[in-house]
Amino acid sequence: NKMVYVVQALGNIRVFCRCRPLSKGEVSAGCATVVDFSAIKDGELGLLASGSSKKFFKFDRVYTPKDDQGEVFADASPMVISVLDGYNVCIFAYGQTGSGKTFTMEGTEKNRGVNYRTLEQLFRTAEERKETYTYNIFVSVLEVYNEQIRDLLATSPTSKKLEIRQASEGVHHVPGITEAKVENIKGVWDVLQAGSNARAVGSNNVNEHSSRSHCMLCIMVKAKNLINGECTKSKLWLVDLAGSERLAKTEAQGERLKEAQNINRSLSALGDVISSLATKSSHIPYRNSKLTHLLQDSLEQDVSETLSSLNFATRVR
Ligand code: ADP
Ligand code: MG
Repeated sequence: NKMVYVVQALGNIRVFCRCRPLSKGEVSAGCATVVDFSAIKDGELGLLASGSSKKFFKFDRVYTPKDDQGEVFADASPMVISVLDGYNVCIFAYGQTGSGKTFTMEGTEKNRGVNYRTLEQLFRTAEERKETYTYNIFVSVLEVYNEQIRDLLATSPTSKKLEIRQASEGVHHVPGITEAKVENIKGVWDVLQAGSNARAVGSNNVNEHSSRSHCMLCIMVKAKNLINGECTKSKLWLVDLAGSERLAKTEAQGERLKEAQNINRSLSALGDVISSLATKSSHIPYRNSKLTHLLQDSLEQDVSETLSSLNFATRVR
């Protein structure tokens, strides 16, 4: 019942761990929690292994089941704002199915998540800066399923294959993808909901399907500095990753096996990219998956932070 929430901006990686409350079903089944919050002040989360042994993992911060959506967003908010200063930012939610990734990123009408709060923050800051900057904000919502990109904001279904192209040094894009201009926060929830609902189209089990694809919200910001005329373009990716669970070998056959292999491949590609960035390797294997290829511009900046927590996030299951 825990997921990690990773924010990458300005050459830093922060890793947050959020533990959701036990569900009613878990409580009535007599499930006990395996996490220990006693060292939480230092960003440490204890995991109770079998027997009495306990292992601690270090995060930038740990959220308990009592922390609400606002609290979770508060730590990301300053980094999110850096997209208005021309930096690329990337946030992703990693964890097994049912751990709370979609709740954290999308949220519900009453408990809106990181995606909506990010746009709310961007419009708020843009308003504060309106004497010195004009901003144009666009959003795309796409899904990567079995290494294929689908436009979740497309108004008419299309069979056109979407591919990633490099427009110029450090600028990748997906020609033909819908880029919806958002003028203010009013229409944003509906746009995000439209994207989320489109995820279900064509699948007979909505939750199952969504847990096996990556859902990616891209916020593009065009900024103009009114004082010196300088223009910048930057991107913020918010990613609800596919479930990180491993399927039992015997269980996976046919289509399920293919999906599982694609998920494992893209999640390990993400881990590989992040660790090669961290070790300043000369070759960063962005092209190994659609996921890392799409995120390339946002992950390109120098990353030098210690990665013990990310190791936990991407390697330990
Ligand atoms: P995932 O996307 O990782 O598969 P979900 O976000 O769908 O998981 O969460 C699984 C269930 O737990 C959902 O019913 C969701 O509403 C609930 N849930 C997740 N996180 C929280 C939380 N922090 N507080 C309350 N309910 C939560
Ligand atoms: Mg989900």
